[in-house]
Amino acid sequence: QPRHIAIYGKGGIGKSTTTSNIAAALAEAGHRVIQIGCDPKSDSTTILRGGAELPTVLDSLRDRSRKPKLEEISATGFGGVLCIEAGGPVPGVGCAGRGISAAVDLLEDLRVFETFQPDYVLYDVLGDVVCGGFAVPIRDGIADRAFVVTSSDFMAIFAANNLFKAIDKYAPSGGARLGGIIANSLQLPHARALIDDFAERTGTEVVGYVPRSTEVAQAELYGQTVIEAAPYSEQAEVYRRLARRVTGEIDTRLPRPLNGPDLKDWARGWGDRIFGTETAATGGGI
Ligand code: ADP
Ligand code: SF4
Ligand code: MG
Repeated sequence: QPRHIAIYGKGGIGKSTTTSNIAAALAEAGHRVIQIGCDPKSDSTTILRGGAELPTVLDSLRDRSRKPKLEEISATGFGGVLCIEAGGPVPGVGCAGRGISAAVDLLEDLRVFETFQPDYVLYDVLGDVVCGGFAVPIRDGIADRAFVVTSSDFMAIFAANNLFKAIDKYAPSGGARLGGIIANSLQLPHARALIDDFAERTGTEVVGYVPRSTEVAQAELYGQTVIEAAPYSEQAEVYRRLARRVTGEIDTRLPRPLNGPDLKDWARGWGDRIFGTETAATGGGI
C-alpha cells in the first residue's frame, strides 16, 4: 500500500520546491514516487521536469469528450517520479477543490496506483485558505498524513494554523492527521525559535529546518531540484533528511490551533521580543 502524504502551505512559501526535493530524494533512494500538484498555479512538478510544460488533468478533462490517457496528463521526471498537475478552474468559474477530486477520481479510474505501484504519493496543496475545496486531500481519506510548510512570516503561520483547524475538523471522521511542520527559508536569527514556539503552543512538532539557500534559486533556473543540480551540497542533505522524516515512522497528531485573538497576542509577543515595544508599533515583517 502506498503512503499518501499531503504538503500544505501558503502560496509562495516553498511547497513545490520542498515537495519536489523530497520526491527527488525518495526517487534517488530507489522509491517509486508520484507527485500530484494540487494548486491552480499548476507548477508543482516543474523542477522535476526541466521546466517543461505539462497539460493539467482539469484542462484535459475539459477539452475532450473521451477520457484522457495517463500519458496525456503525466510526465516522467527526475529519478522516474511520475508528475501530475491537477490544474485549476477556468478563472472565475468552478471550484479548484472539485478539480482535485476530479483528478484523484481520474487516477483511480485509470488504475494509476495499481499500474505504477508507487511507494509514495505526494500531494502539493495550496493552503492559504483551507476551504472545503483545498481540504479534499485531508478530508476524503486520500492522504494519511499532512505536513505544513511555513516560514516565520505571520501570514505563513496564520495559514498553518488554519490547516490545523481543518485537520481537527476532519480527522475524527477519517481525515488525515498532522505529521508536523516543515520550517522553510530560515535566514533571520529568530526564525527558528519563533517557529519552534508556535509548534509548542499548538502541540505540534517541527520535522525539518530548511535554510534559505542560493542553491535552490540556482537549481530552479535550470528547472531542477537541488538533489539533481547539487547532489553533494549540504542543502541536498537537508532535503534527504526531511524525506526520510516525512515518510518514516512518526507520531501523527491532532494539533491545538490558536483562536484568532490568541494568535494575534502570540504574534505581538514575538514582535515585542524581536523589535522592542516601540518599533513593533511601526510595523515591519517578523
Ligand atoms: P509554493 O509552491 O509554496 O507557491 P515555491 O516552491 O514555488 O512556493 O517557492 C517559491 C519561491 O521560493 C521559488 O522561487 C523557490 O525557488 C523559492 N524557495 C523556496 N524555498 C527556498 C529555500 N529554502 N531557499 C531559497 N529559495 C527558496
Ligand atoms: Fe474555491 Fe475553495 Fe470555494 Fe472551491 S471551496 S470554490 S476551492 S474557495
Ligand atoms: Mg507551488
